[in-house]
Amino acid sequence: MVDISLGNIHRGLWSGNCLLCAARAPAGKDLCPACERSLPRTESACPRCAAHGTAMEIEGVSCGACQTHPPAYTSARAAFRYATPVDKLIQDLKYHDRLELSRLLGGYLANHLQALIDPLPDVVVPVPLHSSRLRERGYNQSLEIARFVAQSLELPINWKDAQRIRPTIPQTELPREQRRKNVRGAFMTGGAFAGRRVAIVDDVMTSGHTANALAESLLRSGAVEVRVWVVARA
Ligand SMILES: [Zn+2]
Ligand SMILES: [Zn+2]
Repeated sequence: MVDISLGNIHRGLWSGNCLLCAARAPAGKDLCPACERSLPRTESACPRCAAHGTAMEIEGVSCGACQTHPPAYTSARAAFRYATPVDKLIQDLKYHDRLELSRLLGGYLANHLQALIDPLPDVVVPVPLHSSRLRERGYNQSLEIARFVAQSLELPINWKDAQRIRPTIPQTELPREQRRKNVRGAFMTGGAFAGRRVAIVDDVMTSGHTANALAESLLRSGAVEVRVWVVARA
């Protein structure tokens, strides 16, 4: 599934072994066929926020939460559910310096997006990290994923005009009711987005408040539409 041209760019990182179980992988693939089949692909999901589950009874109709409180973004797409083994891949990319996984995850996200009939945006924006977090981690996993997505879809990427202007507590460490407040006003975006259709790229979407806060900022900066693309939806 992973675009071989992307693989070629990072040929130096491609070992020929499955990135999950270390078994021999087919040429140009990052996963062996068994691990590939085990991926928790998104099936039925809310077209607005990408939430999945039994509530999505009618194809194309937003979930109850989106109908009650429509988010700032127009739509959200997730390649996977945040479940085994994608959760581990994302954690390894984020916390264990396994940067080669950005090619794998970005490739799957790009393939998922290519299979949809959504119109493409003008520009891709990775969810920025605060400078203190960036110094600590050394890289922004969302930017690393977004590079592959943008390249695959032949879209420009802009990570310079979106900033996280105050440090925030990781959303997963907070109770649901505090998550909106934690990220409110956390982002600052520039005039470069005026009149543009923007796609936000992130690794995981949990409550959706982070994507929503960034989308609000982009819309204030004049973006005409904001979509959200994530590798996995919790
Ligand atoms: Zn494997
Ligand atoms: Zn929804």
